[in-house]
Amino acid sequence: MRCLRSIPASFEEEASRLYLTFDDGPDARCTEDVLKLLEVYQARATFFLIAEKAKQHTALVKAMQARGDTIGNHSLDHRYRFFFSRRAVMRDWIVRSEEILSSITGIKTIGFRSPAGIRTPPLHACLKQLQMPLIHWSVRFYDTARVWTVEKARTTLARIQPGAIILLHDTHAGLRREVFLHTLETFLADARQQGFSFEAITPSDVARAL
Ligand SMILES: [Zn+2]
Repeated sequence: MRCLRSIPASFEEEASRLYLTFDDGPDARCTEDVLKLLEVYQARATFFLIAEKAKQHTALVKAMQARGDTIGNHSLDHRYRFFFSRRAVMRDWIVRSEEILSSITGIKTIGFRSPAGIRTPPLHACLKQLQMPLIHWSVRFYDTARVWTVEKARTTLARIQPGAIILLHDTHAGLRREVFLHTLETFLADARQQGFSFEAITPSDVARAL
């Protein structure tokens, strides 16, 4: 089973698109400010949500959807032990998440993103059976382990490829949250100035790319 890492352009005018993805939310401390920044820069994104958290913050999920952002399935609770469970248990972990997320949005998610990007043969088999695409990324900043600085954002932007799927997290708190939001704003502003647009990954993007 293939794993999606970037979105090929289908038209000339799509050749400058970037795809921001935010994992592990929705988060009461950070998501709303991320949405506000995206709005200011007319950027759309994809949020890979943890279903147990989405259940507690349905208004944030609906705000994403209202803006034209898309939603992906990032498992029920992000617990790695499910990778080592029996196939039926793992399947249930993904299906229950999908049911919760689609009960909030009214539609299927665009696909599954594995917690920590873990890929195992049973996971692939499970997703194949569910006919659910696996969506990875091509650019990451390790923003949960280290501070995401403007310098790192600019270095990456200088060599980024159109169609890149960028992994970030909308879960930061405290001082790190302030730095994250400032860096995100700089990244959005610089990228736009260089002619990039930010789009949400859609089901048709996924179908084309896989
Ligand atoms: Zn995650």
